[in-house]
Amino acid sequence: MDKDLKNKTLSELEDIVENFGQKRYLAKYIFTFIHCRDAGRISNITTLSKDFRALLAEQDYYISHLNTVRTFSDPDGTIKYLFELADGLRIETVLMTDGKRKTLCVSTQAGCTMNCAFCATAKLGFQRKLTAAEIADQLNIIRKDRGKINNVVYMGMGEPLQNYSAVIKSVRILNHPQGKNIGLRHLTISTCGIADGIRKLADEDIHPRLAISLNAPTDALRSKIMPVNKKYPISALMEAVKYYQRKTQQRVTFEYVLIKGFNDSALHAQMLSRLAHKAKCNINLIEYNPYAPGSFEASSKETIKRFVQILEGAGIETTIRYKKGRKIKAACGQLGADMHT
Ligand code: SF4
Repeated sequence: MDKDLKNKTLSELEDIVENFGQKRYLAKYIFTFIHCRDAGRISNITTLSKDFRALLAEQDYYISHLNTVRTFSDPDGTIKYLFELADGLRIETVLMTDGKRKTLCVSTQAGCTMNCAFCATAKLGFQRKLTAAEIADQLNIIRKDRGKINNVVYMGMGEPLQNYSAVIKSVRILNHPQGKNIGLRHLTISTCGIADGIRKLADEDIHPRLAISLNAPTDALRSKIMPVNKKYPISALMEAVKYYQRKTQQRVTFEYVLIKGFNDSALHAQMLSRLAHKAKCNINLIEYNPYAPGSFEASSKETIKRFVQILEGAGIETTIRYKKGRKIKAACGQLGADMHT
């Protein structure tokens, strides 16, 4: 049985507390001390009696924590953290600052199975899924170092919907008013297109924002860079997105990494706009970030401009995400680039 108190929702903590014959409200003290006051040990939770703290420790309950191995700072203000997990595996987390707004890009797995061709994490292979505690702790540590974080995006290493239960549990933990109290509108799960996971998410009682890494407007093209497309082709993905929108009334974001000569022509933009009209959505265009010599190349500024004009001309709300953190390999698709074995 998992005895990590950081890996529990408040209602799970209430059950644990009750099983010790204690009042359920004491769980709030544990939850708040862990997630708001950075209690690293049970003995730090001074609002619990000494006897109860001793009893929890005797029964092997503990509070896990990530170790910060190193931080990297980009001149553009982006900061990357390299964390070590309890079993020695490593993950990366990125803090991006835009004016007063701080957005944290968290990892959900060590490595990834999805094998997207434009992504450095894919080259690490798959190591394991993170626990909800390990996901939430990325925020705990960086917030303690760098102050309030406004948005959390699940876009770091790993495919969030392949670690579904830990990811949704971490959303519950981060969203809870007794904890970090981050609104669901400020929590975004980004998937490479696991259609079944999108449907499952739609059926939950809480709905963070949803982003989908699309990257090509046709199956033939998408399958070349995203093997997930063979299992969930674009039609299946769009049906899942429509289902999500019926259940949540939410607009979704499609992410599209622009790769020179591959998916950045005027025709691609027109096909993408037709696809986008099938859902309530906006599009984030992302400049491709090379992570190794010989990988793809980024589209030129002129090509990107033309692409945006076509989308906007078709009435699609479009944003360009310019390269951030590129010098420290913290940009989209670059995580893990320095960790290849
Ligand atoms: S882009 Fe995301 S889903 Fe694809 S290989 Fe990289 S981490 Fe995995």
